[in-house]
Amino acid sequence: PIATNSSVPESLRSFLATPRKLLIGGQWVEAKSGKTFDVFDPATDEVIAQAAAGDAADVDLAVAAARKAFDAGPWSRMTASQRGQIIWKIGDLIEQNADELAAMETLDNGKPLGVAKAADVALAADMFRYMAGWATKIEGNTIPLNVPYVPGGQFHAYTLKEPIGVVGQIIPWNFPLLMAAWKLGPALATGCTIVLKPAEQTPISAIRLGELCQEAGIPDGVVNIITGFGETAGAAIAAHDDIDKVAFTGSTEVGKIILKAAAGNLKKVTLELGGKSPNVVYDDADLDTAIAGAADAIFFNQGQVCSAGSRLFVQSGIYDEVVAGVSEIANNMKVGSGFDAATQMGPLVSREQFDRVAGYLKAGLDAGAEASAGGAAIDRPGYFVQPTVLKNATTEMSIVQEEIFGPVVAAMPFDNEAEIASQANDTSFGLAAGIWTRDISKAHKLAKQVKAGTVWVNCYSIFDAALPFGGYKQSGWGREMGHAALENYLQTKSVCVSL
Ligand code: ADP
Repeated sequence: PIATNSSVPESLRSFLATPRKLLIGGQWVEAKSGKTFDVFDPATDEVIAQAAAGDAADVDLAVAAARKAFDAGPWSRMTASQRGQIIWKIGDLIEQNADELAAMETLDNGKPLGVAKAADVALAADMFRYMAGWATKIEGNTIPLNVPYVPGGQFHAYTLKEPIGVVGQIIPWNFPLLMAAWKLGPALATGCTIVLKPAEQTPISAIRLGELCQEAGIPDGVVNIITGFGETAGAAIAAHDDIDKVAFTGSTEVGKIILKAAAGNLKKVTLELGGKSPNVVYDDADLDTAIAGAADAIFFNQGQVCSAGSRLFVQSGIYDEVVAGVSEIANNMKVGSGFDAATQMGPLVSREQFDRVAGYLKAGLDAGAEASAGGAAIDRPGYFVQPTVLKNATTEMSIVQEEIFGPVVAAMPFDNEAEIASQANDTSFGLAAGIWTRDISKAHKLAKQVKAGTVWVNCYSIFDAALPFGGYKQSGWGREMGHAALENYLQTKSVCVSL
């Protein structure tokens, strides 16, 4: 039996002992097809759980439940204050179950347990609390009119902010719980109802979150969770005629597929997609901080971060020193099981991702890049690769242009400060950027020039529920987090009354 596999911690065995089900209309049910799929521990390649393989038939049921909860209530009939209190409670329950949720993330995704608890779980709890506060603060405006073809006309005009309705949310595997929180938080705060599909690689914590939503008092049908594959369950959500909006986080490639599928009923679409973010180190930077920051920018979460600093631009005079410094950090990193307290970097999430990253490493080295740290997979069970620093990388190489989504940074020197903005922007992505300098004027100038949704100065990967996050160019549409995220889930209705 799966749950007794050596890699499943004692604390999760009973939860994983039987195949996990779908949450539809407040009930935990098997997929209509009866099918399940295996979930793997990326550190051991062992099966750790089975989850229901939801598909179009289950999505139909979930959408019907979400529609009923939206149209008939009780969600839509509750006051904003009542909704806010329930959302706050989800945050409390996440915090109360932090150890269990962190263990789920480590088991399912591979990330170090300490990181899962301090980052993923803590940020998820905070996201619900932040959004709970917004529920009572969604307001329209009163608008003075001047209608030229109604001389002397007097009008009272105002806007109402209304929830968009039933939303489909499709999320990735790199931060399974946190991505669910980023999606559910604003949708719940605005009064929408939801069909959420976690990634097939990492469904476990979202299933547990569904239970916590129920415990917090989320009414039946408001949060529905359909585990399953992208091509079946995901595609059914993107194309569904009775879904009013789809929110997707994942690859740019799949984002484009979602967009096309959504065209059928012109549902609203927001996309949080890939990146190839520049991290720029000027020669006047505090080098110790910049070197540690550049390493963290790419190695955090095994490099499986859409905003990872994967193109490292270093001013020529300090290039060797910075590359050597980041390489030393990479070479000394303890790579292993996320449950080992000493581990700094865990495995990649899946066999597929492992093959992808290994493919990019080979392509980069074949094209003439040189590994000053790492450069290869690690020969042991599980999906481990070495933290890698590639130098002699040039613009046209796939390792510089494409998102690798692994612990691989391409380091490139720059001479001319006037040209660094165009080099930084020389990519089809625009998610994030890093700038390291002691010169604040230089930092602000580049921050303005760089085409990226988030710019970190003398820091990297700082996320907060209040700080909007999202992409320029092919990194996406719309913003997650902050009050900007609420707009994704609201319609504006103008009401005009003749006095
Ligand atoms: P990755 O390539 O990093 O695994 P994806 O973009 O493929 O990331 O996956 C992100 C999410 O999108 C997952 O939940 C996945 O199941 C889903 N997905 C993948 N393909 C499709 C599709 N054709 N339609 C809808 N969702 C999809």
